[in-house]
Amino acid sequence: MDIKAPIIMETIFIAIAVIVYTLTSNTFFIYNFLYIGTAISLELFLMAKNKSYARNIIMLAVGSYILIYVGIMGHENMLMSGFWYYLFSGVFEAAVIHYLIAKIAGPFLFGRGWCGYACWTAMILDLLPYNTSQNERKNWGYVRYILFALIFCFVAGLFIFKVSDLDLIMFYLFIIGNIIYYAVGIVLAFKLKDNRAFCKYVCPITVFLKISSYFSILRVTVDKQKCIECNKCIKSCPMDVDMMNNSKKRVNGTECILCLECVHSCKQDALKV
Ligand code: SF4
Ligand code: SF4
Ligand code: SF4
Repeated sequence: MDIKAPIIMETIFIAIAVIVYTLTSNTFFIYNFLYIGTAISLELFLMAKNKSYARNIIMLAVGSYILIYVGIMGHENMLMSGFWYYLFSGVFEAAVIHYLIAKIAGPFLFGRGWCGYACWTAMILDLLPYNTSQNERKNWGYVRYILFALIFCFVAGLFIFKVSDLDLIMFYLFIIGNIIYYAVGIVLAFKLKDNRAFCKYVCPITVFLKISSYFSILRVTVDKQKCIECNKCIKSCPMDVDMMNNSKKRVNGTECILCLECVHSCKQDALKV
């Protein structure tokens, strides 16, 4: 990876910090985006130095910051239920801004980088023993759409029925939701021998992520002239992406989390981002 990547990433996050601060006048967003940007830039720097642990370390740094500091200590529901809640309330704060940048608009530029470098659910799932799927991929992707619809209807119902103490309910939803996500994610990972099974079948956020990441500017492409078709890259991919096909319509193309395992596995230097 180009050593310039960390500098470019830091610059992007400084720009985001300035734009969001200008829009909200909230200084929290300055240090929030500087922290996340610096963590990701450091990670890119370590990856450029071929440090294999870099991604896990930075995922833990960013993921636990959002989970513990913003979510639990700051009482901000950063799950999808929180996104709908703050959006319906007209509150343009952390959860809404986070979803707009990391999960709705941002993926047009950096695909599902959030899933590869910052998600607090996957920061735990990626520590489990099955980095690549040991089984055939299941046809269970519909589960994410059901969960997405259920969450939307549940939060809408809270407003329609004028339920009180919504802030408190949202806080408890954040805690309970995360416990359920971790439990389901860990059970699925062991059951299917696949750390990322939760991401592939259950996570409702992928409904947003898959749409915008289809158009992502940042994506893995193959140089067919250099490729010797050894398939090492395919075997190293945790998300079953057919990175040997440069088309946007490649198999599981919107599943790519930009982890770069495929790029590192290619001894022919045929893959690049
Ligand atoms: S798919 Fe969901 S759980 Fe998995 S990394 Fe992305 S946001 Fe996190
Ligand atoms: S690892 Fe490299 S050479 Fe082997 S199939 Fe993949 S792109 Fe081609
Ligand atoms: S191994 Fe390559 S294709 Fe698969 S998710 Fe990681 S970066 Fe994307």
